[in-house]
Amino acid sequence: MIHPRMLINGELVEASDKGTFTVYNPATRDVSAHVPEASVSDTNAAVAAAKAAFPAWSALDPTARGACMKKLATLLHQHNEQLARLEAISMGLPVAKYFYGHTAASYFDTYAEAWHHIQGQASVNTPKHITMTLRQPFGVVAVIIPWNNPAHFFASKSAPALITGNTVVVKSSEKAPLAVALIAELVVKAGFPPGVFNVLSGHGMPSGQVLSGHMDVRALTFTGSSRTGKLIQEEAARTNLKKVILELGGKSPAIVFGDADLDKAAEQTQHSIQANSGQLCMANSRIYVQKHVAEKFVEVFLRKFAAAARAGDPLDKATNHGPQADEVQYKSVMRYIEEGKKTGTLALGGEGKLDTMNGFFVEPTVFLNTPEGAKIMKEEVFGPVVNINTFETEDEVVAKANDTEYGLYAAVYTKDISRAMRMARKLESGYVAVNCTSPNTGRDLPFGGWKGSGQGREGILYSMNNFLETKSVIIQIDED
Ligand code: NAD
Repeated sequence: MIHPRMLINGELVEASDKGTFTVYNPATRDVSAHVPEASVSDTNAAVAAAKAAFPAWSALDPTARGACMKKLATLLHQHNEQLARLEAISMGLPVAKYFYGHTAASYFDTYAEAWHHIQGQASVNTPKHITMTLRQPFGVVAVIIPWNNPAHFFASKSAPALITGNTVVVKSSEKAPLAVALIAELVVKAGFPPGVFNVLSGHGMPSGQVLSGHMDVRALTFTGSSRTGKLIQEEAARTNLKKVILELGGKSPAIVFGDADLDKAAEQTQHSIQANSGQLCMANSRIYVQKHVAEKFVEVFLRKFAAAARAGDPLDKATNHGPQADEVQYKSVMRYIEEGKKTGTLALGGEGKLDTMNGFFVEPTVFLNTPEGAKIMKEEVFGPVVNINTFETEDEVVAKANDTEYGLYAAVYTKDISRAMRMARKLESGYVAVNCTSPNTGRDLPFGGWKGSGQGREGILYSMNNFLETKSVIIQIDED
């Protein structure tokens, strides 16, 4: 379906040392492709190309930058189905659920026309002076993305960096490099000048680490695990203190009060943890239900969760529950499930399907009444696994919900508007949803985590700000 190559200085290339790694279809364990492993010198070459391309690209009329991005958007729309198939055979996302070629296109389209928001300020507040700020690009921006939604992250990070005049080196995830390799081909067709937009494939070591520590990379935007985020931050601090934007993991709570629409809450919370087989940073992996309605809620939740997941070949349009992304993810999820069985009460699922389905499928799994301090209540599982606990008072549930190192997304279901607002204020989270839950997001709201879930915010306008330095200019005026 594809001959994956990297894009360095306008050329689609193999790794310079011919190194490759193998990507397997997680539903069948067949080989899907051999993919170039970017070496240290490939990574350096991509950064050097981006550095060389920067002066001309940043000096262009932004509408000319936007024109390349618009062409890429059109191509992404046209290739949505191919991208869907490539994701299905690399990380198992069902094709029926795939619209991310269109999502990626809309990022390039939107940012292509957003250049007029690149604005400084001016003032006369300093007597005898006029002062102003200029907003200017950093230079080379590195983009490191995860596997759970590659096209989305590829676009949401690189489009704002490009329109603001930066040049870019993107590194895809070793678990899901195929759709990104196709997008690299589309970048060439879209006519970006050589070196402006470089795309590498490979593991964290060496290419990710080289980007994090590279003296010529001035800003780095990362989405992935908190563990890797810390490594990147350390490497950036050790080298040139590049600006680092981090979108990391979560252990997101959904809180259901007794007055809520229980049917709707059960439907939406099960969807949140089932979508992408639980491999969603903002999935509500902890649900807290007020005690007097817990029995009813759990009964509806279990029925809906069990019925919703149709596991099977991700290439089959009837499938909506794919496998975990690879063997590492599968084994990690199964370890958490075994751990969960020791501390909580298993109410649904609890089995891996490797033996019967030959792929890395995990049953939708529910644990009840797990002690708050248990490992599975504290760490991100990243699978279709949810813990449902109960609470009695508002203060109690706020304390439980906030007792985590994460703070990405929280949901509250109640019909009491004052209570909803109190909760919105008290929850330590970058996002609070009322009477809905993830993956629901507002299109012009900032997205990002409190505490260990990240630093910085992304979103239309917010992301452009991430890639612009501010310069203060003061001009003295001669007296008459
Ligand atoms: P990961 O941290 O394992 O890998 C992410 C990327 O980092 C990959 O491209 C990988 O090759 C690279 N990498 C690995 N080691 C590196 C190093 N030492 N230096 C530089 N780069 C390195 O994460 P993942 O398993 O791909 O993705 C899942 C994680 O991403 C979950 O924790 C999930 O919650 C998080 N995530 C967060 C958001 C968000 O917006 N907050 C969105 C999606 C996923």
